[in-house]
Amino acid sequence: MISGDGRPDPYQAFQRGRLAVDQHMSKVLQAEDMWAEETATDILLTEAFPDVRYWKFTKRQESAVGADWLWWWIDTTGTSFGLLTQAKILKRRGTGWHVDFGYRRRKTEPAQIDKLLVSSMTFSVPAAHVLYCGTPAYRAGLACGLTHHDGANCRDRERAGVSIVPSIIPHYLMPRVRDNVAVEAFHWSLPLEDVADPGRSQPPLPPLAAVHPDIAEFMRRPQLGARRVAKTMLEAVHSIRMGQFSAALSEDADDGVEDAVFTHLPSDRGHFGVPYLAHVLGGLRHRPPAYVQDLLAGRTPPTWVTDAVAGIVVIHDPEPAIQHLATPAGDGRMHPQRHLAVVHSDDREQLPPAAVARSNSG
Ligand SMILES: [Zn+2]
Repeated sequence: MISGDGRPDPYQAFQRGRLAVDQHMSKVLQAEDMWAEETATDILLTEAFPDVRYWKFTKRQESAVGADWLWWWIDTTGTSFGLLTQAKILKRRGTGWHVDFGYRRRKTEPAQIDKLLVSSMTFSVPAAHVLYCGTPAYRAGLACGLTHHDGANCRDRERAGVSIVPSIIPHYLMPRVRDNVAVEAFHWSLPLEDVADPGRSQPPLPPLAAVHPDIAEFMRRPQLGARRVAKTMLEAVHSIRMGQFSAALSEDADDGVEDAVFTHLPSDRGHFGVPYLAHVLGGLRHRPPAYVQDLLAGRTPPTWVTDAVAGIVVIHDPEPAIQHLATPAGDGRMHPQRHLAVVHSDDREQLPPAAVARSNSG
């Protein structure tokens, strides 16, 4: 439901969506069957509606296997963050785990993850995989082998049934960890509803090399609205980059994206193969692109958009309307409890304390 004051609530919407997908996956497991990407995505989006709006484009529906959905978060300042997503299933195979990131319909075709990354460049937005990961019981045997700083194993995260990971992470892992790609990608993923949670704590991401002061400020300080979502998608990428032993470059990458919030994005690639800051932050704009404005005004977007994606999801984020609450108090950190007390009034108390804490074990 739209919250009492009429504002959409993407956090509750995605929580509702995730709970419905969890229930579906649980039933499918009881039937000794496996869930499908399209069904799970349909459940997620219909349950998240009307807080989250979506438009399906018929052209791509027929070939919908692994179809890409373009997501745009738009906050009340108009600042927008785009993300090209592809849904995947976390599959159990014997004692191992598998996510088909490198799927090819024919041997001569490029891998699906490469096609997704190329397509994301057409839209100048980052790519992300939405992972449907089953229930905690289903994941009981999953051991990622990575360190969990908070002592809690990533497989036990309650909200991880629907998770999201920037695609440059599995793309980086694929040639390096081979059989462990699925569990490491899962480890670095975040529950989708956490990305939509304005009260989630935001770790500072100190830049590795000299970057434009606006970008350094963005990385170090808590952010709101679409900027917060963009920064959240940068967290795991930043953690992995910190562990890569190569000097960070501080020269600027070529840009030129219309309405980009940040120009002067650094060209540092680390071992990701793409300038990762430019890739993620290129999705951050001062206003939604024209094709999203078309949709919101009831007009059909141009065919270069409708032919390229299965549909568009628009998430209106009401957060910056309460900007005064996030004023850093001395320590430069947001005070999530006070912040949440206003944003989510009385529903937050029903959630376990872990829902408020940082959940990405990394
Ligand atoms: Zn883990």
